[in-house]
Amino acid sequence: MEIKEFYDYCREIASYGSAAALVEWDMRTKMPPKAASDRSIVAGKLGRTAFEMSTSPRMAAFVEYFNRPAVNKQLSDVDRRNVELETKRYRKISAIPAEKYEKFMVACSKGEYVWQEAKAKSDFAMFRPYLEEIVAYQKEFVEYYGYEQNRYDALLDDYEPSITTQDLKVIIDGLKSELVPFIRQLREQGTRPDTSCLTGTFDKAAQEQMSLDVLKTMTYDFEGGRIDETAHPFTTGIGFGDVRVTTHYYEHNIASALFSTMHEGGHALYEQGVSEAYRWMSIHRGASMGVHESQSRTWENLVGRSEAFWKYYYPRLQNRFPQFQNVALDDFYKAINVVEPSLIRIEADEVTYNLHIMLRFEMEEALINGRAQVAELPELWNAKVKEYLGIDVPDDAHGVLQDVHWASGLFGYFPSYMLGNLYAAQFFATARQEIPDLEEQIAAGNLGALREWQRSRIHQYGALYDPKDLVVRVTGKPLDYHYFMSEVKEKYSRIYGIVPPESK
Ligand code: ZN
Repeated sequence: MEIKEFYDYCREIASYGSAAALVEWDMRTKMPPKAASDRSIVAGKLGRTAFEMSTSPRMAAFVEYFNRPAVNKQLSDVDRRNVELETKRYRKISAIPAEKYEKFMVACSKGEYVWQEAKAKSDFAMFRPYLEEIVAYQKEFVEYYGYEQNRYDALLDDYEPSITTQDLKVIIDGLKSELVPFIRQLREQGTRPDTSCLTGTFDKAAQEQMSLDVLKTMTYDFEGGRIDETAHPFTTGIGFGDVRVTTHYYEHNIASALFSTMHEGGHALYEQGVSEAYRWMSIHRGASMGVHESQSRTWENLVGRSEAFWKYYYPRLQNRFPQFQNVALDDFYKAINVVEPSLIRIEADEVTYNLHIMLRFEMEEALINGRAQVAELPELWNAKVKEYLGIDVPDDAHGVLQDVHWASGLFGYFPSYMLGNLYAAQFFATARQEIPDLEEQIAAGNLGALREWQRSRIHQYGALYDPKDLVVRVTGKPLDYHYFMSEVKEKYSRIYGIVPPESK
């Protein structure tokens, strides 16, 4: 058996995946409404074909052969990693009886449907039996997958391979102990920025031009992608040379499109930067959900909410939106960096965001290990929001029902969002060291300097390394939340005019 046969087969699978991604993109952007029902059949068929091929007898034969020690040690590092990723996928999917997996998928689609209505009515009791069924499946699957220390490890592994529940607990305990008092200090001692300049009416056509311009400034490659408008912004890698982003425009909120465009642009730069030599391979994607999120967060927050970037970009924004002519740069900069404990995760600022993730992780981990029951979730949720963010949850729609993830059966996903913020800060600290004039480059509008650094240190490798190894390769150290903490302490102490607390 030749490795070329394995790659040919992977390319076939990836072709179906690519077609499915294109159909899904079309469904969310351009499709006329009457096509919806038939198009979901097409998308489903393509997705299912790729899925079945990944667990076919043919793939089983590749997995068996290329994992023989004598054969495996002859492989190149790239070949071995591709075999490893396909093997992992094969074993994970095959661990669950197909019939059971299908029932789970049905439970999730019912769950999502009921969740929408339950959220609209703010009625957790209505959603509860559906969520109970989904959680029961997750607990069962964990036993099929197997785990070493914590049941939750088996779920986390789908999104953040090489990071364990224990790793997360250590990070969260430390981060929480510094973040919660810092946020309290900002609120009690700091001067809250005036955000009134961000309200008003912002011409939609001008916002569209701004999004195009921002992406160009970020060096997003329009020969290998495009931007469209959707209800919820997303990025999709259709395949090599085709990485598309979407954003959403609100007439009365300019910050939304601005930062979601930069966020999605950051995801897209990652995918556009993976080595061409890896096209069609399993490693032609990000190292993990968290590392992917680190790239979007870097552009959205560490660049997009920085003083340096706005030194360059603010005059351009003022030209497009005359209402900013009378707003000083410093006032604008402070306004886009307001810190406000809030109820909704996706609207949370850079500083309070991680607290939203911590409480979700703690609840998921307790559920999967049987230390909490679905019925207790609203009460648990509200208590944690009060404890970490200091605010009261008025109803379940603004609390436990706000995210679709649990209804979709995505347990183990949330921590990636937090890890993304932490990786981003650690990578950026290294970029600052290795590009001594990074701030000046950004302030001059030369964002290619950072992009090149990301490409050479992170993007080009795709999923060649697990996140734990990648962080050490790039920064010389294991993941450490202190990079994030010192970044926000320094930045926000200045913005809020407080004396920064000592670092622990
Ligand atoms: Zn993202």
